[in-house]
Amino acid sequence: MADQKDYYETLGVSRDADDDTIRKAFRKLSKKYHPDLNHAPGAEQKFKEINEAYQVLSDPQKRAAYDQYGSADGPQGFGNAGAGAGQAGGFGDFGGQGGFGGGFDDIFSQFFGGAGGGAQANPSAPRQGADLQYRMDLTFEEAIFGKDTKISYDREAVCHTCHGSGAKPGTSPVTCHKCHGTGYIQVQRNTAFGTMMTRQACDVCGGTGKEIKEKCPTCHGSGHEQERHTIDVKVPAGVEDGQQMRLQQAGEAGTNGGPYGDLYIVFRVAPSKKYQRDGAEIYLTIPLSFAQAALGDEIKVDTVHGPVELKIPAGTQSQTKFRLRGKGAPRLRGNGTGDEIVTVEIQTPKHLNEKQRAALMQFAAASGEDVTPHNGTLFDRVKEAFKGGK
Ligand code: ZN
Ligand code: ZN
Repeated sequence: MADQKDYYETLGVSRDADDDTIRKAFRKLSKKYHPDLNHAPGAEQKFKEINEAYQVLSDPQKRAAYDQYGSADGPQGFGNAGAGAGQAGGFGDFGGQGGFGGGFDDIFSQFFGGAGGGAQANPSAPRQGADLQYRMDLTFEEAIFGKDTKISYDREAVCHTCHGSGAKPGTSPVTCHKCHGTGYIQVQRNTAFGTMMTRQACDVCGGTGKEIKEKCPTCHGSGHEQERHTIDVKVPAGVEDGQQMRLQQAGEAGTNGGPYGDLYIVFRVAPSKKYQRDGAEIYLTIPLSFAQAALGDEIKVDTVHGPVELKIPAGTQSQTKFRLRGKGAPRLRGNGTGDEIVTVEIQTPKHLNEKQRAALMQFAAASGEDVTPHNGTLFDRVKEAFKGGK
């Protein structure tokens, strides 16, 4: 069933759409994707699919057959109904009450297998239980350093009374009397093409092939019971937002003695107010005064591992980056730790006191600059004017 097509989906109509709705949907879509009008790649293919879907759904007999056999290719050529009317005729060979040949059942058991009622090739084969997902919230620091924690969640576990058999302790399941252990039964169906034999899951044993005469009082025969499960979790140092960790067999109980499914822990890491993080690298922006940048300085810089010394060379420009080796986050795979990258931002003072102003004017003069301050407050300008008048 590799080439499954849902004709209703193709036309964007519901399964119970009437002829008028189907016709309107077809007209609208065929206009939209007509190769003469739409030159987008894939438009022609889409147009063909729309046509194919309409060929089937606009024909009451073809539509009835399609509904009966689901969205798969359909028996023998039926899926290609749009390619030529003659091909659908091949299907007629199966019609008629007397037509049940030896190979016929095989075609239909393939066709209905799994999809219809859970009838499986071997219904009593062990199957692994379902996987579960658990969302774990971490702080920025917890994700970097990891932590040991416990989590609790509800899951389907193997029943502790019957150990999964579903039978009352002291008894055991027996072979199903209706299906004789095969898990499926043959039923007659009336279809557009006549009466057909199809397979479906046994209604007595539900497809398991086993019948439980005396049910376990705890699980009432299911073999499973709900439990609150608690496990220890070691969050590895260096996990990132959105990453997940698989804990084998921490999911739900399997059936027929199959193993437990897995548990996937998905990490949600809270952002930091101070740092940015990209993988193992941590980014920090710090302010630096003009004097520090021009003269050079030795400062203390925060890292997630504690403060460290950083030498600022004289003449440092704004946006200069410094790399603090090994002060980032641990690398999950492989060895070592990332770096912290510090970006300095030179701050221009917003307010100057008299001394600062005088010093800067002197600085400007020493640099050969003729600076004429003009954007002070009104008060500053008035003061300036008074000084000038003295
Ligand atoms: Zn049965
Ligand atoms: Zn039980």
